[in-house]
Amino acid sequence: MNQPLPASRPTKLLAADAPGITDAAALLCAGGLVALPTETVYGLAADATSGAAVAGIYAAKERPSFNPLISHLPDLASARRQGLLDANALALAQAFWPGPLTLVVPASPDCTVSDLARAGLPSVALRVPAHPIAHAVLEAAGRPIAAPSANRSGRISATSAAHVLADLDGRIDAVLDAGPTEVGVESTIVACLDGAPRLLRPGGVPREAIEHVIGRPLVIAGDAGHAPISPGMLASHYAPAARVRLDAEAPDDGEAWLGFGPDAQEYPASLNLSPNGDLREAAAHLFGYMRRLDETGRTTIAVARIPEYGLGEAINDRLRRAAAPR
Ligand code: AMP
Ligand code: MG
Repeated sequence: MNQPLPASRPTKLLAADAPGITDAAALLCAGGLVALPTETVYGLAADATSGAAVAGIYAAKERPSFNPLISHLPDLASARRQGLLDANALALAQAFWPGPLTLVVPASPDCTVSDLARAGLPSVALRVPAHPIAHAVLEAAGRPIAAPSANRSGRISATSAAHVLADLDGRIDAVLDAGPTEVGVESTIVACLDGAPRLLRPGGVPREAIEHVIGRPLVIAGDAGHAPISPGMLASHYAPAARVRLDAEAPDDGEAWLGFGPDAQEYPASLNLSPNGDLREAAAHLFGYMRRLDETGRTTIAVARIPEYGLGEAINDRLRRAAAPR
């Protein structure tokens, strides 16, 4: 099957001034996609609290898999509403925010970051960026903003508005043009989940500087002798407790059912990812619905066939991982 392109729309060029910042924030709050400058590269921003908006990021980038995204916030206080920062995380935030450090922490009970942006994990990745324009947009938007690099999957990261347009013109609502970004490195990612902080990705803040603040060596994720003890310890994957059976026509006796598309049948313990067969809606519901069906205690979740185009590719990638023998 050919992959239909995401709906085409005119991409606005916004200036890095007060009206441009206001427009960018308004577009984000309305569920739109806006490329924003950060201190590293241009980020493709969307409302992290909206699964549908986050699904739009994957559609525009044509990314074939869902991994958890970093939620950007204007300050430490708003980050603490989303995640539970232990003493190490707090010390690191105070030392390096705003700046190129991402903290992976347990999501707070009041966390508003969507399941899709967290890829179904109980943790959340938080960062307070230093770029003044990004900061102003985050402040105006008043909610966490997900923003992976603003390029199509497999292409190089965009360091100017022109680069963004070369990849994403007609696929996103706007680019906020603040000139070329300094080609920096990505943010350093440190997980502070339970006990020893772990380095998940090296980046702009050097390891030594982090170790100086926490007063101990960082555990390097994947080091021998440090097997990950929870899925959130690595950029790992949400896995349901139930077995997952793919490409099912219907649930067998006792199975939970995850449907897709206009399906007249009603089953006990069933949810439909998108009754209209909309892959973007299905992506937005995927993790939350899997978790809800898992919570029914059924030992198997049977899943309807999902088309293998557009966001279906990423949805199927995730479902195959969930179905893989463990
Ligand atoms: P980026 O493309 O720069 O936004 O990178 C996001 C990175 O953060 C990826 O490597 C993710 O796997 C990682 N990440 C985000 N959230 C989590 C999380 N909850 N647990 C572990 N890794 C995460
Ligand atoms: Mg990238």
